Amino acid sequence: MKVLVINCGSSSLKYQVLDMQNEELLCKGLVERIGIDGSVIKHERADGKGYKLQVPMDTHKEAIENVFDALLNTESGVLASLDEIGAVGHRVVHAGEKLTESTLITDEVVKILEECFDIAPSHNPPNVLGIKACQALMPNTPGVAVFDTAFHSTMPASSYIYAIPYDYYTKYGIRKYGFHGTSHKYVSERAAKMLNCNLKDLKIITCHLGNGASVSAIKDGKCIDTSMGFTPLMGVVMGTRSGAIDPAILEFIMSHENLTIEEMLNVLNKKSGVFGISGVSSDFRDLEEAADNGNERAQLALDIFAQKIKAYIGSYIAELNGADVLVFTAGIGENSISMRQKICANLENLGIKLDPERNNLRGDEAIISTVDSKVKILLIPTNEELMIARDTVEVVAKAK
Ligand code: AMP
Repeated sequence: MKVLVINCGSSSLKYQVLDMQNEELLCKGLVERIGIDGSVIKHERADGKGYKLQVPMDTHKEAIENVFDALLNTESGVLASLDEIGAVGHRVVHAGEKLTESTLITDEVVKILEECFDIAPSHNPPNVLGIKACQALMPNTPGVAVFDTAFHSTMPASSYIYAIPYDYYTKYGIRKYGFHGTSHKYVSERAAKMLNCNLKDLKIITCHLGNGASVSAIKDGKCIDTSMGFTPLMGVVMGTRSGAIDPAILEFIMSHENLTIEEMLNVLNKKSGVFGISGVSSDFRDLEEAADNGNERAQLALDIFAQKIKAYIGSYIAELNGADVLVFTAGIGENSISMRQKICANLENLGIKLDPERNNLRGDEAIISTVDSKVKILLIPTNEELMIARDTVEVVAKAK
């Protein structure tokens, strides 16, 4: 079966087509600036053929129409007819507590996702726009929603309940949900395969370190804790997000800088993190270069980032009562040799020993710990789209 995977943001849309007979990627692409001047689609087939086209796209439906044109393009397309697509897998960020596993999309499911707009106001509305656009354009093709929150739904209440009045949980669903679940799930499954072990026998800590970053603790193949919270703002320091800070700081800054709560949240989401600390960039390539050239605040941002990840690793080793595997994934985890080194430095007492030579690589699956390291350290490029496509095939097969 060929599966179209769609990941809709507020003004962007990423897509891939995979042939799930052999899990082969056929093409991928990105639409940017939907609803903004200068909308553009970049399409690339697996053999490198493709194109970039500027064309007005006011809505997600128009964006998906342009994706279909790309898929059917005679020069660089991958389909003779849209009927070849057996199912569409949609990345959906938030499913609240109601949907805890990948689900066939029905009107009832769309209603539940709309009910989550309140708790995921920037993510769920574009996800639902993408779903509705596909339903309108391909009414007979099944759609499957794969949730970022689903993998974390196995956390015990002791991990997800905040120490605020319990009523806020029962009335509004205020709790830790966690995000990047599809990535944490994918790399934990790959880790077990790479080590030739049963996933259920492993205690795994997964570090998804990209522009957004989160760390998860996994036991018996199930997530027992994760660093992101009610929203993706919580947890470790990120590119532009603050991660955890003393909540009383908000009131202090708002009154001194005369900010509204929306402006304050914008600062915490868009102007903080390593960007806020360094004043240089949210991109670790820029930070590493600046630090090498003697920029002390860039160095400080890198030091703080590593320290926060270390703190979560230590805490999850305690929660798991030891760890067998530590995984690095996503943009920084896959590519920053020096950041992996910095995070793993001085953790020998916890059984974590990185091999500097094995660590000297980017973007490939590898075991990068020393032979005598109690905890196996793995580099695993994430593949959320493949995970979404796998779930899509499984859900559609079960529904038949
Ligand atoms: P992601 O959100 O997973 O796409 O990760 C994006 C981030 O990965 C970028 O903002 C960079 O900070 C980081 N990154 C990508 N390539 C490199 C690299 N070669 N060295 C260091 N960091 C990198």
